[in-house]
Amino acid sequence: MFSDVLKNLKPYNTRQEIDALMNIENGPVKTLECLGDFEKPEDFSKNQLDILFFKLREISVNSNIEIEYNCVHCGKMNGGLIKIPDMFNDTSDELYDDIEIGFFNSSEIENLVDEAENIGIDEYDEIVNKYRHNNSILYQPIMTLKCLMCGESNYKDVEASECISKTSLKDIYQSITDLSVYSSQGFADVMIMIPYEREVLVALLQKLIDDGNK
Ligand SMILES: [Zn+2]
Repeated sequence: MFSDVLKNLKPYNTRQEIDALMNIENGPVKTLECLGDFEKPEDFSKNQLDILFFKLREISVNSNIEIEYNCVHCGKMNGGLIKIPDMFNDTSDELYDDIEIGFFNSSEIENLVDEAENIGIDEYDEIVNKYRHNNSILYQPIMTLKCLMCGESNYKDVEASECISKTSLKDIYQSITDLSVYSSQGFADVMIMIPYEREVLVALLQKLIDDGNK
């Protein structure tokens, strides 16, 4: 049952995060296998895989995904924040198995994004709400972002498997090195930290270094 898989999710550690980042090119199933023990991950639908990536990211790193995009209205570069809980309907756990998670396939998502640009936000919300009330949509992979320059709405879908880390492989290795050299944490200790824990320690270390330089 998919709801059991969701209930039993555990955060991944730094070693798993690195493995997953190195396997992103090999597809979502391979990437997911790096992040935990999943029975038959190849049987998950595209949407189930997306949901797993977002939920794992939420419990292992944090729930805010920072993205950069060019506004389709004024062309200016923007920074935006997508909050993972906003993507999910407020549905109770048992609904996870009953509702049709596979409603949005990737071409439908693309169509809806294209359509959203034309129909405007109210009508777009109406369409989404219609599916929501039919219990045929569990999560909304398209998020609305307001352009900071012109105030117009942009619709974004986020690649779930690319959200498993907040940082690059190079930065992760840098953090591991910094913590091994400047703190009491050894390489092996850092490898079993969950990414959230590692980032907190790196931030504390940075603060110590900054204070020392004053
Ligand atoms: Zn704009």
